[in-house]
Amino acid sequence: MTENRPSIVVLGGGYAGIKVAKALDEVADVTLVDPTDAFVHNVAALRALVDPPWLDKIFLPYERLLKQGRFIQDRATAVEGRRVTLGSGAVLEPDYLVLATGSGYPFPAKSNEPDTTTAHAQFRDAHQALREAGRVLIIGAGPTGLELAGEIKAYFPDKHLTIADGANDILPGPFHQALRDELRDQVTALGIDLRLGVRLTELPAAPPATAAPIAVATEDGQKLTADIWFRAFGVTPRSDYLRGPLAEARDADGYLRVDEYLRLTDRVFAVGDISAADRNMASVAGHQATFLVAHLQALIAGEGDLPTYEPAPVGIAVPLGPDGGAGQFPGSPDIVGPTVVSEVKGRHLRVEPTAALFDA
Ligand SMILES: Cc1cc2nc3c(=O)[nH]c(=O)nc-3n(C[C@H](O)[C@H](O)[C@H](O)COP(=O)(O)OP(=O)(O)OC[C@H]3O[C@@H](n4cnc5c(N)ncnc54)[C@H](O)[C@@H]3O)c2cc1C
Repeated sequence: MTENRPSIVVLGGGYAGIKVAKALDEVADVTLVDPTDAFVHNVAALRALVDPPWLDKIFLPYERLLKQGRFIQDRATAVEGRRVTLGSGAVLEPDYLVLATGSGYPFPAKSNEPDTTTAHAQFRDAHQALREAGRVLIIGAGPTGLELAGEIKAYFPDKHLTIADGANDILPGPFHQALRDELRDQVTALGIDLRLGVRLTELPAAPPATAAPIAVATEDGQKLTADIWFRAFGVTPRSDYLRGPLAEARDADGYLRVDEYLRLTDRVFAVGDISAADRNMASVAGHQATFLVAHLQALIAGEGDLPTYEPAPVGIAVPLGPDGGAGQFPGSPDIVGPTVVSEVKGRHLRVEPTAALFDA
């Protein structure tokens, strides 16, 4: 603790990490650690695939986030208690430790490149391959697969698009059935070939997001062919750096079990996708970050009797391109259609409020 300002290390600069680090910058000695040089606004990543000028809007350098605190470009390789060992060998041992290392998802939904330059090149290469492909296969009919299909159809209406999923319906999760029905209708109206309840005997041999002849068999004897495929399933929480008793907080899938204050132990917290407390969404990561900021501010101010965490109410907006899609607002029994979704998300993809944090 320096001059009454406690030290806080935030591991991971995703939606949760940037919000916590930024909000506590004035009251604590904040260090943000991330292996990459820039925050990526994933919410708009699929738009950047079809329309690469968006790339400049969605990669936001960490150096612009904090006014007083510091950013270290490195990766936590081991965390034991509050002791963090980085890839460089440096060791940090803050007063409070926030784990916000999120989840991995196949490109282009999330980039797996180490810096902005190589990530932009990866997007541009995939854009070129997509542009040249006549037939596109998307495997996975969750929100990412649906959004990707909507983006491709909006920017390349003549491409033949197939979405395949082993489940019998789209959009798994705690959402209204009417939302699935509405999205299915819109997808069909776009001319997208939606194959549900279809199990592939194996994934395509060619790497995803690259131009290659694709032919995959299904268990019921069909054959799906395309010129490029995208993998739209497989979220992986990133928590493998935990050591000692902390590692026991990992559940079977790698999510971290936290208590009612989002704590693993005294003064070690986990927020965002990494946490088992709630769903994998940026809005939920933001909700948890808001809770944790208030909690840490109260702890720093020496206040007692602190409120406990309440999971975020269910809500989602699934754009199908800038002008399509459907959603449901938290707490509402109704769904909203393309006009509302386009207004609240599809057109701008919430770039500005996120970019506004990077004003240091
Ligand atoms: C295409 C797409 C669209 C989406 N759209 C929406 C949407 O519209 N609304 C919504 O609510 N959600 C949306 N989501 C979900 C949302 O992106 C995630 O829930 C969100 O990214 C979770 O934020 P996070 O802060 O927990 O982690 P992440 O965003 O995953 O960030 C984690 C950070 O930790 C870093 N990191 C990883 N390992 C280490 C380590 N060992 N040491 C240090 N740092 C590390 C990573 O580099 C990364 O920067 C979307 C997801 C995708 C893929």
